[in-house]
Amino acid sequence: MELSGKKVLIVGLARSGMAAARLCAQEGARVTATDLRTAEQLGPDARRLAELGVTLELGQHPQKIFKAADVIVLSPGVPPEQPQVAAASAAGIPVVGELELAASRLTCPVVAITGTNGKSTTTTFAGDLLERAGMDPFVGGNLGIPLSDGVREGSFSSAVLEVSSFQLETAPTFHPQVAAMLNLAEDHLDRYPSFDAYRQAKERIYANLKGTDTVVYNAADPLVCETVATLPSRPLAFSLADHGRDGAFQQGGRVILRESGESRELALDGFRVAGSHNVENLLAALLCVRALGVDPSLLEQALPHLHGLPHRMEWIREVGGVHWYNDSKGTNVASTAKTLEGTDRPTVLLLGGKDKGGDYGPLLRLMDGRVRNAVLYGQSAPIIEAALADCPVPYETVEDLPAAVARAAVHARPGDLVLLSPACSSYDQFDNYEQRGDLFRDLVEALG
Ligand code: ADP
Repeated sequence: MELSGKKVLIVGLARSGMAAARLCAQEGARVTATDLRTAEQLGPDARRLAELGVTLELGQHPQKIFKAADVIVLSPGVPPEQPQVAAASAAGIPVVGELELAASRLTCPVVAITGTNGKSTTTTFAGDLLERAGMDPFVGGNLGIPLSDGVREGSFSSAVLEVSSFQLETAPTFHPQVAAMLNLAEDHLDRYPSFDAYRQAKERIYANLKGTDTVVYNAADPLVCETVATLPSRPLAFSLADHGRDGAFQQGGRVILRESGESRELALDGFRVAGSHNVENLLAALLCVRALGVDPSLLEQALPHLHGLPHRMEWIREVGGVHWYNDSKGTNVASTAKTLEGTDRPTVLLLGGKDKGGDYGPLLRLMDGRVRNAVLYGQSAPIIEAALADCPVPYETVEDLPAAVARAAVHARPGDLVLLSPACSSYDQFDNYEQRGDLFRDLVEALG
């Protein structure tokens, strides 16, 4: 997509919108950017855009700028059904996302990683594995650096991109050479009309795959397997147990990589990231980089250098024999359930935040026998409370996270875990999950 001289409208100035505006300005487009927040709320990044010649329309979305655009670049936070966007689209103005725009500028092989949970961890593992193997990948997308900033600043041997369902909705020609689907579970039902609609958005990652491409998929997830069976690409399966197909699985302290029926073993003892879900993420990452041709012996050497990310089952400290963990990125029921499944001690669980419209049932079934007490807080607390009515786990409801931490300290006994894995997004009381996790860490550090 040639941008020089075109009138580009950027809708939504979060991280990726800002990056898209910078890319379009650099390529000589006449850029207007709009956001419902004011210049004051957006801060210095907005001022810098103005210095690049970007026209800012802040605090509102004026109708006239939509009609005047040659191309609209939509942020993942703004749904395509937004009335002005939908009207522009109906009038024939192309509406694309930042991923579509930036990925069309890449000339290197692209690994794209999606799924409901584990995307950031798997993307980071894959990027670190490639770097340890001596390559120079771009690693980012939905996580970390937006791709638009990446392509503005350099060229890479490969790109490993975390991609979300929202990004995939507006990336019609996006064509990764390796597409990974980690899992599919209920999420974002506050934005999608149904689970099927969410699943279809995620599955757009497959839309342009060819026979020469590779799809890395979770062999233990029936929904994932169902669609992968219909694709033209080379399938590489991962799961903890042997799935009998080409791909990767765990066997005792080893990873088995099976390709064209032949097996290679990697010792897992150097891999220190806790949780069986992180072994799944590792298996997926290994397959992604194998699909780019990286030698397995280089991969084994890299395993001790892989680390978990902050806010994902992050150990904070021990107080009086109680271990406190921050899993603030546990933002849906499936992620919290997976984390809880991996715990081996009685747990005081902090749940709550902004409800996403999903079913708490799968989590409640796991809580009995694992959770000593649940402490509920935030906007979703009454909804979780109603769901907990038939669950024998004791619970109490408090106003906010500081109160929840204080009550958890009272309930926990020596040897227990206290786990913030809220199963909800953070937007009722925080700007994002990082801010929630940071506050939790501060509160725990301040405990006597
Ligand atoms: P994402 O980027 O998809 O949100 P992350 O890697 O940031 O995924 O992990 C977010 C949370 O999801 C973790 O804190 C953990 O609770 C859960 N999780 C991580 N990996 C997996 C997995 N493979 N399967 C299920 N849940 C997972």
